[in-house]
Amino acid sequence: MQKVTIIGAGVIGLCAAYYLNQKGFAVTIIDQGKEQEANCSFGNAGMIVPSHFVPLAAPGIITKGLKWMINPTSPFYIKPKLDLALMNWLWQFYKHATADHVEKSSQLLHDLNRISNELYSEINHANLFDFDYERKGLMMLYNSDKCGQEELELAQKAKSMGIKVETLTPQRINEIQQTKLNVKGGIFFPGDAHLNPNKFMQNMRSYLLNLGVEFKWETRVEGLSIEKNKVQNLNTNRGEFRVDKLLIATGSWTPKLAKVLRLKLPIQAGKGYSFNMNSEIASLVVPSVLCEAKVAVTPLGNETRFAGTMGIEGLSLKKNTRRILAIKKAIPNYFSSVQEDQIDVGNTWVGLRPCSPDGLPFIGKCLQDNVLVAAGHAMMGMSLGPITGKIISEMLTEEKLTIGVEQLSPLRYS
Ligand SMILES: Cc1cc2nc3c(=O)[nH]c(=O)nc-3n(C[C@H](O)[C@H](O)[C@H](O)COP(=O)(O)OP(=O)(O)OC[C@H]3O[C@@H](n4cnc5c(N)ncnc54)[C@H](O)[C@@H]3O)c2cc1C
Repeated sequence: MQKVTIIGAGVIGLCAAYYLNQKGFAVTIIDQGKEQEANCSFGNAGMIVPSHFVPLAAPGIITKGLKWMINPTSPFYIKPKLDLALMNWLWQFYKHATADHVEKSSQLLHDLNRISNELYSEINHANLFDFDYERKGLMMLYNSDKCGQEELELAQKAKSMGIKVETLTPQRINEIQQTKLNVKGGIFFPGDAHLNPNKFMQNMRSYLLNLGVEFKWETRVEGLSIEKNKVQNLNTNRGEFRVDKLLIATGSWTPKLAKVLRLKLPIQAGKGYSFNMNSEIASLVVPSVLCEAKVAVTPLGNETRFAGTMGIEGLSLKKNTRRILAIKKAIPNYFSSVQEDQIDVGNTWVGLRPCSPDGLPFIGKCLQDNVLVAAGHAMMGMSLGPITGKIISEMLTEEKLTIGVEQLSPLRYS
């Protein structure tokens, strides 16, 4: 039986384990976190987004970014710091924020998200475990003309790519959402879906454990021993582990290990927050993005999750109260019946999105014969989990890939 070790028990690591287990691999997953701890893949908004085909690095973001950079309550904040890795990331980000890059990346991002959505649907139909997957679509809601114009332009582009899109009036939005929202209009993408990420992660872990996948918690990989162009051993805080095949799925922490593999893999952590509200106070039927505030709203059973902000501030999980309050303040601007003092942010969750400078993930082979990387999925990691896992399993068995991903090579900056 072929053996594979996966570093990282986030959605990317678990989805890879799922497809590798199906192909008969003996899988071991190593994670520095505690079993009950939640990484970036737990508290996110759970949106599965074929409608999101524009990478983070896109025209307009630089002008907005310069304004936002100096405002710590803005949706996208970069903490100024004299750090070579950050400078290099910013330079690469600037170079990729072009119409040409968007044109080259949009179709691939859409196709990856679309196929991944189908794979989630397949997992759901197989009834292996519960994760509240629903295909109710996604609404982009705006209450300013400026955002409305931007969203309409994106909707036109989406249509030209064959994505189903509907333009909605405020009245129609309120009918569908069964609530009173203060919006000027919205764009509806009926093909999108959502799920409960906490349930997906927890239940996928238990499912894999039952199938014999081995988990090693509180085990931090600190180094890799390379011989004959292969990684032979992982050096961890719990001793050495021999490896056969290796997948590095370590999200925002990936650059540290990549360095040992002689890879230039620029990833910055994009810190974001989420909190849940009782759906009796604020609820939506269809998951939505509040466009001006860049806040995602997802119905999760009796609760509604609000998630947002992106802060490039390093790997610390320290919560920045001002940024959490910016999400809180935005909610009554859209939900007419919600007062700010009804919103409790005491249990706010924090996560680090692994962001590459070109807005595309790194999926593929490294310089060493037995090592693959899957990281850098930024705002789309939940959405892209299954397709990433499937591609990784196909790469390890040297099968034809479901979709070509040369553009995502981890060697592209080396
Ligand atoms: C507020 C917010 C909202 C979001 N909403 C959405 C959404 O609606 N849809 C969507 O698609 N995405 C969303 N995302 C993004 C998504 O959550 C991430 O892209 C995704 O979780 C990244 O998964 P990952 O497996 O790459 O990384 P992680 O989940 O961070 O997992 C990486 C794991 O690697 C482990 N690790 C790292 N280094 C080591 C080491 N040296 N040794 C051992 N273990 C190690 C870590 O402990 C961690 O468990 C959101 C993110 C945030 C913050």
